[in-house]
Amino acid sequence: MEHRPLAAQLIDARALDLDMALQLLQQAGALLPDEEPHSILWLQALLNALCDLSSKDALTGLVNRRSFEMALAREVDRVARSGEAALLLMLDIDHFKAVNDTHGHGAGDQVIRSVAAAILQAVRPMDLVARIGGEEFAIILPNCATHVGLAVAERVRERVSELAIEVSPGQMLNVTISLGGAFAPQWVRSSPLLWTERTDRQLYRAKAEGRNRACLEPQIDSLVSAEEKGMLFATLKSDPQQDTP
Ligand code: GH3
Ligand code: MG
Ligand code: MG
Repeated sequence: MEHRPLAAQLIDARALDLDMALQLLQQAGALLPDEEPHSILWLQALLNALCDLSSKDALTGLVNRRSFEMALAREVDRVARSGEAALLLMLDIDHFKAVNDTHGHGAGDQVIRSVAAAILQAVRPMDLVARIGGEEFAIILPNCATHVGLAVAERVRERVSELAIEVSPGQMLNVTISLGGAFAPQWVRSSPLLWTERTDRQLYRAKAEGRNRACLEPQIDSLVSAEEKGMLFATLKSDPQQDTP
């Protein structure tokens, strides 16, 4: 970033990231009069609040769609480098329109909040739960072994179906969700778009097969053969001296 005086800089919010914002804060701090030592702390708190506001969903407090997309891109990158299995789940509340129509929008909002809390309780702290649409959620599960994928999705489905949601005094509602899931291809670079498309196809299948169920993409162990993996490691580990005749 250019080191022009703060007042001469126009902030382009689209290009603003945390590093740049902090740098601006430090410059602002240097400009503050000595008798206002707390101003920089105040600005820091404001910046933190703005970061929160731009990354969280207001209704549920979950990560919003924008942050989810950034996290998904990071996960695609990580899987390609580490070869660790990662699962993406997408879920949608079944027959949610009927909840709004019968009990009102406020009740619908309460259902969304309760489902969000139940999902959070059903996964590990390292998993990222996002609200990506009206009554649609996504979960990124890094380092999730392929053989437990379906069990994890089933656990989330069960937790939600067990909820008794009080939408008005004494009136309890039960809802179900449908889930789709797909693993990122290990050792191969995928793209966030392809990964979400594959996951969404499974969600569509879960809806078409009757709802209140989880469908996972059949697991292709890896798109890279065992022989190719062996070659990859041989290349990485080989000592060039030994290779010379
Ligand atoms: P399906 O089982 O196929 O998912 O049926 P559905 O009725 O749930 O259909 P759909 O997923 O298309 O319904 C989405 C509804 O969610 C439509 C919209 O009115 C409602 N909605 C979207 N955002 C909100 C919100 O923030 N609050 C409330 N109360 N309703 C919302
Ligand atoms: Mg929907
Ligand atoms: Mg729905």
